[in-house]
Amino acid sequence: YDDRDGKIWMDGKLVDWRDAKVHILTHALHYASSVFEGERCYNGKIFKSTEHSARLLKSGELLDMPIPYTVEQLNAAKDEVLAANGLTDAYVRALAFRGAGDEMGVASLGNPVRVAIACWTWGAYYGDAKFKGAKLDIAKWKRPSPETIPTAAKAAGLYMICTMSKHAAMAKGCSDALFFDYRGYVAEATGANIFFVKDGEVHTPNPDAILNGITRQTVIGMLRAKGITVHERYILPEELADFEQCWLTGTAAEVTPVGQIGDYTFEVGALTRDIATEYEALVRA
Ligand code: PMP
Repeated sequence: YDDRDGKIWMDGKLVDWRDAKVHILTHALHYASSVFEGERCYNGKIFKSTEHSARLLKSGELLDMPIPYTVEQLNAAKDEVLAANGLTDAYVRALAFRGAGDEMGVASLGNPVRVAIACWTWGAYYGDAKFKGAKLDIAKWKRPSPETIPTAAKAAGLYMICTMSKHAAMAKGCSDALFFDYRGYVAEATGANIFFVKDGEVHTPNPDAILNGITRQTVIGMLRAKGITVHERYILPEELADFEQCWLTGTAAEVTPVGQIGDYTFEVGALTRDIATEYEALVRA
């Protein structure tokens, strides 16, 4: 991804893609002092741009790393980098991190908080699973307690076990891994939230140890507007046997049906297809 044409927004200005570099003593590389957003632009407009900018600022606050831009400035910067790359349908990655500076150790108050925004074309996150249903492995790692790490932040440190779990899943021919949390409840995938259907009602994990995804909140609103009951609750692993349908939500994943989790199978049913289609229409509206 580093050797290509294009522009990346870095600390207030556009730089050539190839020159968007940091020093090896960048604090974030050593200590995970980094938070980010994944967003999608559809037909020239970023879906929920303000919500994503606000979450980036919140993630920075949670990591004791104040980000020196406002929501409005971040929104404008994202639009600027999309325009500079001539993209109207793209994935947008905003990143804030502690740079190199006065200190090189755990403490980093003397190091600047830097912001970069890149964008690129990115199609269906799970490829053809979007139509036939993704196959998920069960991760051996658990989503940690909010007393262990600020789980509400979209922070790089929370993704170490995501990368490891996704690699393990791919080695078994799966698209992704499903995590249980530190208490043993069903939690989320490595970059997406999860929903289940049983008897016409929808069940999704409580967002107290997972990322409360912007897509998750959007889809819950869509379901309730259709008059469908949504239960946000603790879900036990053994309940996977009883659910009829399952899907994942996320900015990159959008609404992706799940056909299998471990040994449990699910049908790609009517509600799953309806929600996927309606989400697609909403983001392009
Ligand atoms: N959980 C995790 C761990 C994620 O990385 C993501 C993607 N940001 C999500 C859930 C879904 O969040 P959103 O809908 O805001 O993209």
